[in-house]
Amino acid sequence: NDASFDVPTRPEDFDWGDHFPELHQEWTERRAAAATAAAAGEQEQAAAAGAGPSSEEEPPLVRFVDIGCGFGGLLVKLATIYPDTLMMGMEIRDKVSEYVRERIAALRRETPGSYKNCSVLRTNAMKYLPNYFRKGQLTKMFFLFPDPHFKTANHRRRIINTHLITEYAHLLAPGGWLYTISDVPELGEWMKAKLDSHPLFERVSEEELEADPAANLLDKSSEEGLKVARSGGSTYRNVYRRLEKPRQL
Ligand code: SAM
Repeated sequence: NDASFDVPTRPEDFDWGDHFPELHQEWTERRAAAATAAAAGEQEQAAAAGAGPSSEEEPPLVRFVDIGCGFGGLLVKLATIYPDTLMMGMEIRDKVSEYVRERIAALRRETPGSYKNCSVLRTNAMKYLPNYFRKGQLTKMFFLFPDPHFKTANHRRRIINTHLITEYAHLLAPGGWLYTISDVPELGEWMKAKLDSHPLFERVSEEELEADPAANLLDKSSEEGLKVARSGGSTYRNVYRRLEKPRQL
């Protein structure tokens, strides 16, 4: 239940260094070097250090989130394809999030320097995303094989719904992408219909998807995707772009 994990009151209160220790350390050192150079009035040195963050600059932010990341298959693939992007898996099940945490720790040990940009959080993503992320912070959000909640009475529990899509639009930067995939035709249709009818999203074309490394991972990276692929099942992929301004419907 929700009482068994801590939720920060606002994104500023969350300890990112805990999740990305190596990157946090590098950033702290660059910032200290820039501050020292600036304090000494050494313009050239400050400019050189300026290749990194200035003493004022904020720590790097998480840009990608995998919502309901399960066992983390997508996350660890993305981490090597986008080594300079910070990414977070969000998973509500305690044991499963703990498995992902250990999986990432092992990968970091086995391949020093890699996987330092990915981490996992145990949380209820339907309730707490704005506690972790600021407006416009995210550039990609992934929803792979979400729970179908078949019964009509349970449709309100679906993680893609009109109310939550508005929240996702708030967290996504304009131009950011929201990726969905399902093997349940009815849920695929549902996600398409909800996103098609939202004024802050437009469908990404097939040509753009072909050129996008992340879009090509949706059906063959996560544990659920691999299971569906092994059984020869069909999948329904729907990917949308966050618009700058609401469009006419
Ligand atoms: N995306 C993974 C994959 O493709 O292998 C897992 C898919 S699994 C069918 C759905 C996952 O979403 C489960 O691991 C479940 O625990 C998680 N989940 C469901 N509701 C959630 C919520 N409100 N917040 C975070 N995770 C949630």
